Amino acid sequence: MLNKKSVDDINVKGKKVLVRCDFNVPLKDGKITDENRLVAALPTIKKLIADGGKVILCSHLGKPKGEPKPELSLAPVAARLTELLGQEVKFAADPNVVGPNAKAAVEAMKDGEVVLLENTRYRVEETKNGEAFSKELASLCEVFVNDAFGTAHRAHCSNVGVTEYVDTAAVGYLMQKEIDFLGNAVNNPTRPFVAILGGAKVADKLNVIANLLEKCDTLIIGGGMAYTFLKAKGYEVGTSLVDDEKVGYCKEMMDKAEKLGKKLLLPVDTTIAAAFPNPIDAEIEVSVVAADGIPADKMGLDIGTETAKLYADAVKSAKTVVWNGPMGVFENPILAKGTIAVAKSLAETDATTIIGGGDSAAAVNQLGFGDKMSHISTGGGASLEFLEGKELPGVAAADDK
Ligand code: ATP
Repeated sequence: MLNKKSVDDINVKGKKVLVRCDFNVPLKDGKITDENRLVAALPTIKKLIADGGKVILCSHLGKPKGEPKPELSLAPVAARLTELLGQEVKFAADPNVVGPNAKAAVEAMKDGEVVLLENTRYRVEETKNGEAFSKELASLCEVFVNDAFGTAHRAHCSNVGVTEYVDTAAVGYLMQKEIDFLGNAVNNPTRPFVAILGGAKVADKLNVIANLLEKCDTLIIGGGMAYTFLKAKGYEVGTSLVDDEKVGYCKEMMDKAEKLGKKLLLPVDTTIAAAFPNPIDAEIEVSVVAADGIPADKMGLDIGTETAKLYADAVKSAKTVVWNGPMGVFENPILAKGTIAVAKSLAETDATTIIGGGDSAAAVNQLGFGDKMSHISTGGGASLEFLEGKELPGVAAADDK
């Protein structure tokens, strides 16, 4: 369990509370296309309002690289939050984030009111965890609350630097929930514990593979990373995505699984095509072949039908499932079948099911299985680093209980 001071442990009545949220939502033509992160932030915000705090929200959005970019303004977030909360969230438009406009907006606040600051990454110091901007942020408030799990794997001014200059730094409900779900799954799982890893490259998830192998009972590998494992088994993988430098590592992982008595499931068949679809959702001709029968001029782009069944069966007998990364090029409906089959098997089980953010979270939500999962993480990178067993700087910086 997370041993950090939370919003239940602090008194905010009449105080200015700076809340670091993760409002890094996808935008298209100024409209928010996925508001899960906004909804996930509401419990903490509502609690602080109810407790009579002056609630000053801040977040980054995209990568403006240290300068004001109107298309990355948080203004649309303030508008949508106003609707979701049923109370005004005043937007403190300010190119310096903590400039005269922001300061005036904060000074005018009454208890229970909410202000949203401009995109913290408008300031070049933000991602460098610079002292000056950290102090400016701290000067706005008496209490700091970090609820931005999606940024917890980074040490930036608005989630780490600021904590040095405030008396109280607590975590919010979302942060607590994320760490409790992921922490329990990895360190105290109800067994059998099945971990499913997909996505593009082995290299991106080396430490996750090694760490999860120690913690889980069964590790399932799909997506582009599976072909490096198949190559390590001595199979022909054609033109599939392969990390040649990691073939040795995959062999080591297969040996490790055997030594530890863990099941490491790899595709037994695969969906192949002549080339990567271009554009990605192009209609392409595919066929399914055995994992050791990929022709030299073909590319594996999804797990095959037998593999999908095998993986779904492994999920059926699990009591805890953690899933990160798609099983194939799911952006293309023809190559999404493996990812859909796995998502469906998670939706149908009674096990605790945890989706590790990013692409897998998007896939599960798009397929309409979102409410069938025990927990969908709001942080892709952060959840991965957590699954690697790393300490998250954004969490570490909060006060201990
Ligand atoms: P998550 O966001 O859930 O953490 P991820 O984004 O880290 O997952 P990535 O490593 O970025 O996962 O990989 C996702 C990408 O991998 C998708 O864009 C998908 O198209 C691609 N992919 C999956 N299978 C293959 C494959 N067989 N060949 C090439 N690319 C693949």
